[in-house]
Amino acid sequence: MLKNRRSRLTRFFKEYSLKAVLFTDLKNIRYLCGFSGTEGALLIAPDRAWFLCDSRYTAQAAEEVQGAEITECAVIRIDTVAALAQQYALDRIGIEAAHTTVSAFRRMSEKLSGVELVELGSDLDEIRIRKDRAEIELLSSVAALSSRSLAAILGNIRPGVREIDIALALEFEMRRLGADGKAFDFIVASGVRGAMPHGRASDKLIQVGELVTIDFGALKDGYHSDETVTVACGEPGARAREIHAIVREAHDLGIQAVRPGIGCKELDEVARSYIRNSGYGDYFGHGLGHGVGLEIHEMPTLSPRGTAQLEEGMVVTIEPGIYIPGFGGVRIEDTVVVTGNGCQVITGADKQLLIL
Ligand code: ZN
Ligand code: ZN
Repeated sequence: MLKNRRSRLTRFFKEYSLKAVLFTDLKNIRYLCGFSGTEGALLIAPDRAWFLCDSRYTAQAAEEVQGAEITECAVIRIDTVAALAQQYALDRIGIEAAHTTVSAFRRMSEKLSGVELVELGSDLDEIRIRKDRAEIELLSSVAALSSRSLAAILGNIRPGVREIDIALALEFEMRRLGADGKAFDFIVASGVRGAMPHGRASDKLIQVGELVTIDFGALKDGYHSDETVTVACGEPGARAREIHAIVREAHDLGIQAVRPGIGCKELDEVARSYIRNSGYGDYFGHGLGHGVGLEIHEMPTLSPRGTAQLEEGMVVTIEPGIYIPGFGGVRIEDTVVVTGNGCQVITGADKQLLIL
């Protein structure tokens, strides 16, 4: 498994004539060697690899790290990188430009004086864009856990309850069912607050007749889930029903269009054009979706600016929305795995307009 993942680095070694790549981003480190701790570095050469950590993590690394020599750093990690670079003649090392701060870069340049540092852009994160079977299993299981948690707390949505209480109940249920935590700060946006696509749960009381958008996800074993429902607290008005029906149709059309080979821009347009033709084109400002994995938002990006094409094994969200200032909004989101000829939906909450 790790061998396959690391083989995705081959093109970087070749293209940039690198002797090694130094990883400091913890998501990439976890992906490439299995370490789940919160500090460390991974130096990978074509034929061997070193995992660097301080004494707090040596025991954990011995349990988790695969395919790399565990090297405990007594003082400063970059000094150990410099020693390895000298010992193994690693005179041209790629670094993760998108995850390196200016001060870390200065320190690296200073300490690795005989080494040419090559800045690898965010395309380095593309090594994680197609998920392997182990990742799809983890993503499916965290998505199922998260959907089950929502089902367990839907009954809490009643007039007079605060948005934040819904968010807390949901998080508690996720933890109870075995999640390591929440994937992000949940969005619970009721009534007019629904017009804010990222309206985090607030003290606002949910009122009769309001729509409530809940965007939620759990985190387990490093992997995230992402799903959104918009439900009604009591009978909604005609306009609320209308926009819910439009968003749901756009969402269904988007999911039906997912297949290997479709352009991310083209897929976005399937849902966007439906909303536009329904008269709400000005009220859908964000992209149709994004990749999900070790990060909640990762590549590919489904939007009018998306350049990638979908491939089997990618895991993406489909999440159209309509947001009307002063009125409210609707978003409906599922996470899907791109299969050989279409997709499989891994999030499980009912997307019909649920009236509670
Ligand atoms: Zn979401
Ligand atoms: Zn999302």
